[in-house]
Amino acid sequence: MAQSLRWMAAALLATALIACQRRELATPAIPESTAQTARDQAGDASTSSVLSPSDLPTSGLRLNVPKASLRALADATFRRGRLDMVEHQIRARDVRDPRVLEAMRRVPRHEFVPREFRRYSYVDSPLEIGHEQTISQPYIVALMTELLRMKPEDRVLEIGTGSGYQAAVLSVLVKEVYTIEIVEPLAKRAESDLRRLGYDNVHVLCGDGYRGWPDKAPFDGVIVTAAPETIPQPLMDQLKTGGRLVIPVGPRFDQELVVVNKTERGPFRETVIPVRFVPMVGEVQKERPAK
Ligand code: SAH
Repeated sequence: MAQSLRWMAAALLATALIACQRRELATPAIPESTAQTARDQAGDASTSSVLSPSDLPTSGLRLNVPKASLRALADATFRRGRLDMVEHQIRARDVRDPRVLEAMRRVPRHEFVPREFRRYSYVDSPLEIGHEQTISQPYIVALMTELLRMKPEDRVLEIGTGSGYQAAVLSVLVKEVYTIEIVEPLAKRAESDLRRLGYDNVHVLCGDGYRGWPDKAPFDGVIVTAAPETIPQPLMDQLKTGGRLVIPVGPRFDQELVVVNKTERGPFRETVIPVRFVPMVGEVQKERPAK
């Protein structure tokens, strides 16, 4: 009881400090117009770490709190949010792999979210990251990671780096992560955030992921976080026998999350759940889906 009161007080203080500084009201949801404005503002701005010195309240608030304490408070508040996210949004649904749950507890999602939306980092929702793209809902990140069934010695390819968050989650579970992003400012920002946070086994490439990363193939797993209407053949070719491809497939409002198991007897495809991802763009759009 005393513990939860302490957390609530900490959360309230941290939110108030951030809101005061930014002169924003803590709205419960993101209205479309706000999302648009924030997306424009988010632009190429780095997601840089929580509460940089310029975030800290100065003369406006007559509080004599050392900067280091503020930072510790914000970190603790985000951590509490993250642990709750894993319990209530992920484990309470159906993701049970202990390694995946631990990775989700460990990786600070708020470090990959633009400042405008940072306070929503641990809510059950995708969030805008600029350039009309989104960081996936935490549950979907956990589910796709679990479906990959990665081992510590594995090497994995991701198509659609976005914020870099999914790559960071994978990086604590495998040996190397290779990730490709087609929007250059996103690729640059993700790379700088990943370096800043020390995810040094993630390698970012800017380009069309359709052709995969032949120099680094074959991979134990391939994960695609934008939806094509057909599965790109080069990605299947770059998967090891015994490897798994996790990919949303379908048109904009009618996609399914698909797992393809590449076996010696050929590929086995299973459908998991309906999903909604941003479309995979580039070369794949020239292909016609089989009716
Ligand atoms: N995994 C990301 C979320 C990705 S959103 C995260 O954790 O934040 C999907 C991303 O796929 C977008 O950034 C989009 O620009 C990118 N994308 C779309 N088509 C692509 C392609 N052909 N090659 C590489 N990236 C692509």
